[in-house]
Amino acid sequence: MSATDWDAEPVERENVAALEIEGVIESNYDEVVDSFDDMSLREELLRGIYAYGFERPSAIQQRAILPCVKGHDVIAQAQSGTGKTATFSISILQQIDVSDPACQALILAPTRELAQQIQKVVIALGDYMNANCHACIGGTNVREDMRKLETGVHVVVGTPGRVFDMVQRNSLRPDKIKIFVLDEADEMLSRGFKDQIHDVFRLLPHNIQVILLSATMPQDVLEVTKCFMRDPIRILVKKEELTLEGIKQFYVNVTKEEWKFDTLTDLYETLTITQAVIFCNTRRKVDWLTQRMTERDFTVSALHGDMTQQERDVIMRAFRSGSSRVLITTDLLARGIDVQQVSLVINFDVPTNRENYIHRIGRGGRFGRKGVAINFISDEDKRTLKDIEQFYNTDIEEMPMNVADLI
Ligand code: ADP
Repeated sequence: MSATDWDAEPVERENVAALEIEGVIESNYDEVVDSFDDMSLREELLRGIYAYGFERPSAIQQRAILPCVKGHDVIAQAQSGTGKTATFSISILQQIDVSDPACQALILAPTRELAQQIQKVVIALGDYMNANCHACIGGTNVREDMRKLETGVHVVVGTPGRVFDMVQRNSLRPDKIKIFVLDEADEMLSRGFKDQIHDVFRLLPHNIQVILLSATMPQDVLEVTKCFMRDPIRILVKKEELTLEGIKQFYVNVTKEEWKFDTLTDLYETLTITQAVIFCNTRRKVDWLTQRMTERDFTVSALHGDMTQQERDVIMRAFRSGSSRVLITTDLLARGIDVQQVSLVINFDVPTNRENYIHRIGRGGRFGRKGVAINFISDEDKRTLKDIEQFYNTDIEEMPMNVADLI
């Protein structure tokens, strides 16, 4: 399938429709390899994996690494925090030729913070291989990016706009790129990003391997994938096998929007037991809440897309190091961000997009750790909460008094 067929009618493929059930993918592959040693990975990569602290592959890694390494197109769906980043990073590192400085793998992610986080994982896992990886993101110096890319980097991870710019300027040469990864694929193929992804994809070699990953995979996105993937292997790690059960979900009935603030201040001690992320639906609300919390002498930090990249970097660094413990943000950080100490997520506003609900609460309880999510519900939000419960077939209970004990 050539890249220019993107907007063409989906190709008829046998059994494809039958495999898709209610907007989630059904696996068409079930081989499981439950040890990294048995994946025939290169020695230096194995060393990198163990040195990073991994002992056994997670469910998605057990299933998806091998088909990726074998060069198949793959769609992998598994809950947040179950190791999708390492899945594609290991698959890429196994396939690149480090003696060739050309870029051989391109990863696109929806936010700069996520791209930077992925870069660190690739570098760490590839530590013994001399593999290099550059993050190509907006808000940074263009010349610096060009210089870095022109010296040659094996793996590029970036946000679509800057990557497209670099390819157009010929600083990032696409001819040797053989693997194309879309992390948070459903977000990347949704309205906001789809055209940008298409622009990049058109410039890549036609026989490129495509790997898509996400915790959520709505039906319309699956439709789009048919236009540019070749008989993909679909791997779905089902909810029951996974860790969402590790995240306890509650609501607090605040009745009125104005009462959310006092509810939050009452919970402040609970927030700081480990680390917490508080989600609001708009940037302005993040600023407003941050200001009010600060006026009342509660220490919080804030991050959203109106800040400069430098400010964003400083805030993320402080939060990752644990020196800042409560972060107020928008859906900018709903996806992918991995800070292991986060055990509490507060939806100060319930998300307007139900996919983002699962991504937001997945910031806590990483890799099977305990996590608690608390939704602030005004009378107007009751319906939305019901919808979320139904969509995920889950129960969200009223927050108990002893919630701090659960964190
Ligand atoms: P996802 O992309 O699925 O949301 P991540 O790849 O960010 O999840 O992984 C979540 C956390 O689990 C990270 O801190 C990561 O280092 C850790 N992790 C991933 N795979 C393993 C593994 N096999 N063993 C131990 N920890 C792992």
